[in-house]
Amino acid sequence: MYRDYPDPDALRKLAGSIKDHTLHHLGDYLAKAEQALTSRGTHVHFATTGEHACQTILSILQNHGATRLTKSKSMAAEEIHLNPFLIENGIECLESDLGEFIIQLDNDIPSHIVKPIIHKNRREIARTFLREGIATDYNDDPETITRRARVHLRAKYMNAQACITGANFVCADSGRIVLVTNEGNSRFGLAPVPVHIALVGIEKLVPREQDLTVFLNLLGRSATAQQLTVYTEFINGPRSATQVDGPEHFHVVFMDNGRSKILAGDCRQILRCIRCGACQNICPVYRQASGHAYRSPYGGPVGAVLSPLLFGDRFPEFADLPKASTLCGACNEVCPVDIPLPDLLLRLRDKAHRAHIHSPAAIPMAPFATLATSPALWRAAMTMSKVMNHLPLQIAPLKPLQNWLGQRTLPESCGGEFRKWVKSRQKTLRQKTEDNQTEDNQTEDRRP
Ligand code: SF4
Repeated sequence: MYRDYPDPDALRKLAGSIKDHTLHHLGDYLAKAEQALTSRGTHVHFATTGEHACQTILSILQNHGATRLTKSKSMAAEEIHLNPFLIENGIECLESDLGEFIIQLDNDIPSHIVKPIIHKNRREIARTFLREGIATDYNDDPETITRRARVHLRAKYMNAQACITGANFVCADSGRIVLVTNEGNSRFGLAPVPVHIALVGIEKLVPREQDLTVFLNLLGRSATAQQLTVYTEFINGPRSATQVDGPEHFHVVFMDNGRSKILAGDCRQILRCIRCGACQNICPVYRQASGHAYRSPYGGPVGAVLSPLLFGDRFPEFADLPKASTLCGACNEVCPVDIPLPDLLLRLRDKAHRAHIHSPAAIPMAPFATLATSPALWRAAMTMSKVMNHLPLQIAPLKPLQNWLGQRTLPESCGGEFRKWVKSRQKTLRQKTEDNQTEDNQTEDRRP
């Protein structure tokens, strides 16, 4: 960043102010974008909730008679669980982003906004491919894995009848949709299908085409340290008469799903987010806990703010997420749109406290404080902790513990062995010192 921009902070501030301006006039820019999109033959839909967006997409697919589709990576789709919804309704929905494809095979959930399988290693992936028949032999060489996925996905692309994408940006003045990927999967997915549906959060708008120079430069650098992401597509509308391929029908679904409510509140700066994942990479809590600990598609500092705001009404347990921060401020420092994440986390903590919202999953800290401040109790607890290794978690009274351990792997307890080792070591050292002392005294006595 510093190599190309001597004052990257000024760029972050500019990006933040463009986003703030857009959010301040969101209604006007949405109307402008709708007009620009429809003027070129794109169908525009507005969905107030996640369920509404799912139903809208399903009816578009049904109207076009599409039952097989490919989907490129979209956090908005993760947010509303679009994939399971479509599969339940008889639509074959294949993830075309390599990471998301592996997540789908493993029936797993993403743990990072940009790198959804950051929690998996190549050996696990090679085993998944073998299990699912994508490979006939075990090979954990990353290039081989990628080549095998490519062969498997290519046939599916050609058979699909529709493609769902998200959108990184939508220009209000031109109605141009911008898709950014590193694999080119959305481009490939769109080429052979007759129908394209883009699911877009309403905050993805930017006022003018030239604003993209700011955001595209920041997104690549913040997400993957690239000057520009490998594939940047600009979609103007459905395929024109002069184009040889591409969808003849283009639908854009603008989704609110709680965003208007956030916009009306005092944490609206979170809507500036361009989903780069930089705050996750830098956060010491995320780095230890991983994305799954946040129980939401959005993990890390952005998730700790966004999840309670978006899903808090239905899932009060998200009220404890803003506490998953040391408030070190690193997330704010790296955020390309200068979101004051620590301030928002504090605001949400305060709100939860004032409203007496306590997550049912939160572990009361008072018993731990008693334990940790009494040396005798702590010693006893450490000695007894060995029983943790053999707890019969299947019995009813231990069910809550089973749920808790379902998301965490505790190291095997040694029952205070370390303390015993320190004690015996101290004893040995003391003995050694005494012996040396005695020897010194005897030498002194023997001197003439
Ligand atoms: S909050 Fe900022 S750093 Fe985090 S994902 Fe969003 S834009 Fe990136």
